[in-house]
Order: sequence, then C-alpha cells, then structure tokens
Amino acid sequence: MKMSELKKIGFIGTGIMGAAMAGHLMDAGFEVSVYNRTKSKAQKLIERGARWCETAGECAKGQDVVITIVGYPKDVEQVYLSAGGIVDSAKNGAYLVDMTTSSPIVAEKIYNAAKLKNLHAVDAPVTGGDIGAKNATLTILVGGDEQDFDALKPVFEVLGKNIVYEGGAGAGQKTKACNQIAIAGTLAGVCEAFAYAKMSGLDIEKVYAAISSGAASSFQMSGVVRKGLDDDFKPGFMLKHLAKDLAIGVETATAYGKTLPILSMVLHELRKMEEEGKGAEGTQALLKYYGIKN
Ligand code: NAP
Repeated sequence: MKMSELKKIGFIGTGIMGAAMAGHLMDAGFEVSVYNRTKSKAQKLIERGARWCETAGECAKGQDVVITIVGYPKDVEQVYLSAGGIVDSAKNGAYLVDMTTSSPIVAEKIYNAAKLKNLHAVDAPVTGGDIGAKNATLTILVGGDEQDFDALKPVFEVLGKNIVYEGGAGAGQKTKACNQIAIAGTLAGVCEAFAYAKMSGLDIEKVYAAISSGAASSFQMSGVVRKGLDDDFKPGFMLKHLAKDLAIGVETATAYGKTLPILSMVLHELRKMEEEGKGAEGTQALLKYYGIKN
C-alpha cells in the first residue's frame, strides 16, 4: 500500500462493518482512535492498540482523517453537526469521510458545513456486505470534490477494491441508493421464486441447483438465500438497515416527482417485518417471512 501523508484516523462506528474496517486501517499502519455508542463493540480494537475516545468530537480532534460508519441519517447528522461534534472539533484541513449508507441531502449539508470551516467532506458509502468489510474487498462510492477523492485514495485502498468517484457531494449516496434499489427487487424476486418452489411441492435444493447458476443467478441467491437454506441466520446485513436504505430511495425519488413501484412494495414488506420485531435480523430472515424456512 502507498502510505500517504495522512497518518492519524478517528474512526466512529465500530459495528458489524466498522470494526473490521478500523482493524484493516490499524494493520496498514495508521494511528487509529475509535468511538462507538456502545463501547464494548470497540473492545477488540482497543485491546489491539486503538485509542478510545469518549465522544465523536474527541475522536475527531487532531486527526488527519475522520471516518464514520454509523446507522441512520439521523446518527450521521448527530455525530457531524451537533454542537461539539465532528465539524466543530476537526482540525483545519482535515478530511471527513462518511461511509454510512445515508441520505444524499444529509451528505450535501455536511459538505457545505465542512466547507465553511476549511474541512474536506466526502460521502463514501460501501457495498460488498460484512464479507467485503472483513476481506477488505468493499466497493466504495464517493461523492464530493475530486481532489479530496484523490487525496483519500490510499485510505480507501486499504478497505476496498473497486473505488469509484461518482461526482459532487451526495453522488456517492445516490449511487448507493441505485445499488439498494436493484437489491430490493432482486431479493424479493428470489424469495418469491423459492416460495413458489415450496408451495408447488418441488425439492428446494434441486431448484437451487438448477437456477442458481443460470440467467437468474445473483448474489442475493448465492449469498443471502444460500445462507438461509443452510440455517445460518447470523445477521450480516440487518433488515432495519435495508428498510432505511429503501426509504432513502423512496424519499429522494418522491422529491424528484417520481415513484418506483417495486421499491415501494418491498419497503412495505420490510416495514411489516420491523413491526413484528424482526428489524435486527439479517436479510436471510426473509426466507422465514416467505415461509421457505421455519
Ligand atoms: P451496526 O452493526 O449497527 O454498526 C453501526 C455502529 O454505529 C453501531 O455499533 C452503533 O452503536 C454505532 N452508532 C450508531 N449511531 C451512533 C452515534 N450517534 N454515535 C456513535 N456510534 C453510533 O451496523 P453495520 O451493519 O455495521 O452498518 C453500518 C452502516 O453501514 C449502516 O448505514 C448500513 O446500512 C451500512 N452498510 C452495512 C452493510 C452490511 O452488510 N452490514 C453493508 C453496506 C453498508 P450501537 O452499537 O450502540 O448500536
């Protein structure tokens, strides 16, 4: 890896994705400080030498780069824009990188607030799932100023393989919305295919063997459905986060005066699952919802 002049990183959000990503940055030689709402989720990183901070603002202070991967757009707004938060606390000229899947509107707001303080903010959501975070093979979708993207490249290269500059502030989040819209339809379609296999009395494994490598193949089938069929229900990507992502797609399409009917239908089903208390389950729990698994 090319080591740049960026050496000190404040990392906020050490959940399923963030813990693995912060670990890679430590392995690559960056000096990493961490903050997370629940401290225990940063414990392994602290034991490996990461410096613990009590607040997001403290974690941003004096860093060359501040990276966040928290939960929802409201969490992003809170850590960046609240009094004593990241924008208030980061040093002059620092780079702020939000890797949460969040709203493009929030990304633009942060970019503008950061500009006023001579800070360089980019939105850089990721795809590739928990496996991509563990294996440092994420796809990273970046919006903001292109020279900031170039400066941050050595950091992104530690975390991912396919790193794409998408355009101005918010363009990374808009691209991530495209990704999630595609996933929504594919995932629902794949689940309906296996629900149909079950209701029509077919052998599910034989159906999987027949259709998983042909024209209907997809990661949603070979990754998500396969996990569920193998009774691996440990959450990798939580349903509540998929619902949040689809809501961002619906809300922004509405703001453009458009509707995306399939996206809205899948969001409706996910909201029902959340109401049933299943939000923290992984996307493979859809197999139970569709009656494919008990
Ligand atoms: P997660 O396990 O819930 O991690 C998020 C972490 O951020 C949690 O540990 C949470 O603290 C912390 N956090 C939330 N709000 C905070 C705040 N205001 N201050 C400090 N810490 C805060 O979720 P994840 O799966 O890693 O996903 C993180 C983001 O990446 C989400 O936006 C998700 O949609 C996106 N994403 C996930 C995947 C995936 O496959 N998992 C793939 C691509 C993108 P607590 O521990 O207290 O909840």
